[in-house]
Amino acid sequence: MFKKILVANRGEIALRIQRACHELGIKAVMVYSEADRDAKYIKLAEEAVCIGPAPSPLSYLNMPAIISAAEVTDAEAIHPGYGFLSENADFAERVEKSGFQFIGPTPENIRMMGDKVSAKQAMIRAGVPCVPGSDGELPDDPVQIRRIAKAVGYPVIIKAAGGGGGRGMRVVHTEAALVNAVQMTKAEAGAAFGNPAVYMEKFLQNPRHIEIQILADKHRNAVYLGERDCSMQRRHQKVIEEAPAPGIPRKLIERIGERCVTACKKIGYRGAGTFEFLYENGEFYFIEMNTRVQVEHPVTEWITGVDVVRTQIMVAAGEKLPFTQRQIEVRGHAIECRINAEDPYKFIPSPGRITAWHAPGGPGVRVDSHVYTNYYVPPNYDSMIGKLIVHGDTREQALARMRTALSETVIEGINTNVPLHRELMVDAKFMAGGTNIHYLEEWLSQRQR
Ligand code: ADP
Repeated sequence: MFKKILVANRGEIALRIQRACHELGIKAVMVYSEADRDAKYIKLAEEAVCIGPAPSPLSYLNMPAIISAAEVTDAEAIHPGYGFLSENADFAERVEKSGFQFIGPTPENIRMMGDKVSAKQAMIRAGVPCVPGSDGELPDDPVQIRRIAKAVGYPVIIKAAGGGGGRGMRVVHTEAALVNAVQMTKAEAGAAFGNPAVYMEKFLQNPRHIEIQILADKHRNAVYLGERDCSMQRRHQKVIEEAPAPGIPRKLIERIGERCVTACKKIGYRGAGTFEFLYENGEFYFIEMNTRVQVEHPVTEWITGVDVVRTQIMVAAGEKLPFTQRQIEVRGHAIECRINAEDPYKFIPSPGRITAWHAPGGPGVRVDSHVYTNYYVPPNYDSMIGKLIVHGDTREQALARMRTALSETVIEGINTNVPLHRELMVDAKFMAGGTNIHYLEEWLSQRQR
């Protein structure tokens, strides 16, 4: 096992990884930008290295600064967390070339999944069902583009191969708008992602976002840890996640989970990963794979009892997965609310000093956050300041616990979306379960203040 790991991230996930290291008896080296000196995990750190000024290109995206921090502290491995450099194949390569273990998949696998066209082709080869669409990248010839769209059937969605974070996508309803839309998406993709390649998919009208968590080791063992429902989204950003997904038959989950495991074995995948699907009319359609730990991993940890971050570290050190698929059992129901520093109505970011922070507690309540009373939320990064996760024997109990936990939560000095979560936890449709990816946006557009 490693003796020392460098945590190349910030915020709640940095604290989460630090906790996992300490539990395993591993020293954690924390890095920070000048804006993050006061984060909780820096105060708790046995070693911490400043890697640059507040803007992330100069600190959390600064590869030489991070690698030299690992060198001067004698760390053996680097955990990239999520966001920042976590899905950057060049970074993974540089980490390994510098003699450190990258806690994640191989650079080849990251690269394959980072290009959505090659990811989809790999999934088709591995027998994972995908959204019907173009066979790879779209050609330039307008006649051929129209022919492909006709075969797929309108509406279609044009997506950038290098896209991410909900950007680089355009829905097309008619043939008249098609060729122009393809050209515009190509131009935008070239400018934003440095790769003008685009592809086409059928645009599904009312899908849910269902994803499968997998864990794999370096010995070709892989398991799936059930599913998560992340359909409650605003601007393609997840707001609430839960597991299991309400109303989806276990048999269907097992079938798709097994396909994901087979795909992992086929490509030699290692570490944690998530297969994201759209789910409509009883069918799963792969859209992309995330080759890292995700924000919403705690709901899976709670229903399966598996520590995802601890297992990531163990398999990176070369250990075998400590469980088989048959030992994975789903118990109860878990829900996560992302707590953002933002106006709960207008969604304008609300950085600043937290003058009071009272986190909820009690049975089945978990709070993952790096903030505390008197902490200053810097304006430079994502607005998420923590996550509130609850577990119950049933979904009803989990909902009741979330309502109680939200009623205990006090955050003063900045605006947060806690009032939004309080409203959603008593919304009849959300409480019934199974809302689709458009539900939250529609709900927000009709919300009474
Ligand atoms: P990103 O990497 O930018 O997050 P994804 O491919 O994961 O891109 O898609 C993000 C979101 O866009 C999905 O969660 C879904 O809401 C919507 N979307 C993507 N593809 C389709 C499709 N074929 N039909 C309908 N909605 C889609």
